[in-house]
Amino acid sequence: MARYTGPVCRLCRREREKLFLKGSKCDTHCPLEKRNYPPGEHGRDRARQGSEYLTQLREKQKARRIYGVLEKQFRNMFEEASRQDGITGENLLRMLEMRLDNIAFRAGWGVSRSQARQFVLHGFVTVNGRKATIPSMRLRRGDIVALKPSARELAVVTESIASQAPHIPAWLTSIGSGFEVEVSNPPLREQIDVKVREQLIVELYSK
Ligand code: SF4
Repeated sequence: MARYTGPVCRLCRREREKLFLKGSKCDTHCPLEKRNYPPGEHGRDRARQGSEYLTQLREKQKARRIYGVLEKQFRNMFEEASRQDGITGENLLRMLEMRLDNIAFRAGWGVSRSQARQFVLHGFVTVNGRKATIPSMRLRRGDIVALKPSARELAVVTESIASQAPHIPAWLTSIGSGFEVEVSNPPLREQIDVKVREQLIVELYSK
């Protein structure tokens, strides 16, 4: 499974925006507050501005980075979203939200999507009672995602649940003690709190 393994704060600096890729650490130690310019030798050079293409590109990169999806997979998801009924940009965001790693994050088990992805990769997560180790697995209405009992006592999990419990989105139903969630419905656009202008991504890929 391919994924970005470089420094994550660099990604936020490139977008010049906090993408909250490190969970609660982002509230306390954020290099963007001191170095709000793109990384690299020419990061402080005068930024190129005004290009429609550049704006669309940055929006697409931002969405990819928030969800931790590489270009090829992201593009394939876009193609699939464009074949579905409804608004392509919203379909795309909905598909990203319905990934297993994102749902483990939304359930509050990890402080970031990358930490939730680790839980999936390590076999800590089940879907409908079966071990699921593919972070990009797409879930459906009625699926039940659970954290295995062996992982429930991990300090990172209990701290994460304590900090995020009130923020479980309405399209997920928490079951029991919070270690199981049911996908009640695929999310509506207004239930997805990422600050991405998905229409720009559609325009970019439709060129
Ligand atoms: Fe981004 Fe968080 Fe790093 Fe700040 S601390 S640059 S928000 S990942």
